[in-house]
Order: sequence, then structure tokens, then C-alpha cells
Amino acid sequence: MVPYDESVPPTRRRRTLLATTALAAVCLSAAGCGAGDVGAGAPARPGPGGDAAASPSARPSDPPSKSAPAPERTSPSPTRSTPPAGGNSGPLSGKTVVIDPGHNPDNHLHTREINRQVDIGTTHKECDTTGTSTDAGYAEARFTLDVSHRLRTLLRAQGAKVVLTYDGDRPYGPCVDERARIGNQARADAVVSVHADGSAVGNRGFHVILPGPVRSGAADTTKIVDPSRDLGTRIAGLFVRATGSAPSNYIGGNTGLDVRKDLGGLNLSTVPKVFIECGNMRDPKDAALLTSSGWRQKAAQGIADGISSYLNG
Ligand SMILES: [Zn+2]
Repeated sequence: MVPYDESVPPTRRRRTLLATTALAAVCLSAAGCGAGDVGAGAPARPGPGGDAAASPSARPSDPPSKSAPAPERTSPSPTRSTPPAGGNSGPLSGKTVVIDPGHNPDNHLHTREINRQVDIGTTHKECDTTGTSTDAGYAEARFTLDVSHRLRTLLRAQGAKVVLTYDGDRPYGPCVDERARIGNQARADAVVSVHADGSAVGNRGFHVILPGPVRSGAADTTKIVDPSRDLGTRIAGLFVRATGSAPSNYIGGNTGLDVRKDLGGLNLSTVPKVFIECGNMRDPKDAALLTSSGWRQKAAQGIADGISSYLNG
């Protein structure tokens, strides 16, 4: 959950949203952004949660194995070897991905610290927030860490260098400005901040939040707006494919995309970055997905596929 800045009028947010609609519609209708370059590690996997499905999980164009059986070899082939997990080979070799698990499970124990105001360029906002939870008490911050760990494993298996902004190793936070700084200092090729939303019952589905154009104080998103849109659009399309979940029915006009100019984590980023709200923890049907480890693995796969597609161009 990423609280809105009340100083940004909803009508203005809606206008920004509409600007993204055409591009996203193309992406989602193709259920894979038309990129077709997800790589060998991204099989289409239909799964449960079909009640939320907006599009087929597998594309008809997914190629069957066309190659004839290979002749027996007498010596090992030097090509097409499976990269070792955590190794430096693989399609994402040389790439750095920063994963930002939203919130911190112990933020609620440090309200004074996380309420401290930090400069996000356009204004000042709280250092961090507690996030939301399901009605049964499964905290968003635990969800975000779990998905982030799964995502890290998937990306490392493709050879990427992966940095988490925190990993259960600090009592609260990091603050949103530090979360952005970690991505910047890592010179990340892509950054994804993982969240789940806390909205009304009946509001369902995921959405990806893209940085809007901001230039004020320490914030300057001029150079990241376009690449972040590319990154986010690919993630949205491939998240649909991996999870079978539909784009949000309450924000983004069914595109799965939103644009915001009030988030410090985006405003202060100098590298391509998006947030993803994987579902609505307050809706019982979405909560059933978010609390399923099998679904979280699919969510991580969808995000990894989107990052991989973006980084492979
Ligand atoms: Zn959140």
C-alpha cells in the first residue's frame, strides 16, 4: 500500500492515468507486451485464481518445440547450458536489479522514527509507513519480503546481480529517500518496489505504478519516465500471464498501470523504477491469493519475466 498524497487532486491523477491507457491496452491484450522475448525461464503457466483471469495465461503463439531431435553428441556442447543459480552467466549477466520490499514488518514498533519527515523533492513526507494487512493479520510487509526473496532467486538464476533495499536486517524502514538512494547508488538497470494494496472489498487486481514527470528540488524524473514506463508495461503484461490475475478494477481503467508524482521512492530515483501493487489485501478473494505461497511464486515469476523482458530489450 502506498498512501496517496492528499495534495494531489484525484482528477489530476485520473488525467495522468488516461494518458497511459492506450499503451497498456496494447500490452495487456497481447498478454505479454508483444515482446516475445521473455526467455527460456518464463513458461506460461495457467493456475488457480482463474476467477480473476482477464486473459489467457498462455498465448496461442507460444511456440512448441519445433526443433528436430538433436543428433547424439560425443562431446559436450559449449552452448545453451543452464546457468548456475547465483552465477555470473545467463541472460541477465552484467545487469543489476534492485528489489525494494515495501514497508518493514517492525515499522509499527517505531512510529516516531517512521513518521519523521523526509525531503522527496516536491514536498516532505513520512520516512516510511506501516503498510496494510489482510483481515486475518497477514502483513503487507511480510508479503513484500517473501515475494522479494522469490524474485531475487529467479533473477539470480538468470545471472543478474540483485540488491534488496533491506532484508529483515534493520528495525524499521528504510526511509523512502534511502530506498531510492540505494537503487541510484547501485546504478541499477531496473528497480521494482513490491507492495500490496489496502482498498475496499470488491476492489481487486494488481496495478503497476509509474513515475510521472517531476522536476523539483532533489527530484528529477525527466530521464526515467520513459524507460520506467517500458519496464512497468512489460511487468504488467507478464504479471497477467504468470498469475492469471486481472488488472485492477478500481484504478488504472483496467490497464494495470497508474502514474503518480507523489511518491518519494519514484521521485528521487535516477534509474528506471516502478512499484507494483500485487493485489488488494482487504478483499477476501485477493487475500486468498496473496496468502498463497504458490500464488506468490507466480507473482514473483511475473515480475521477473517483466524485468527480464525489459533488460533484454
Ligand atoms: Zn505498500
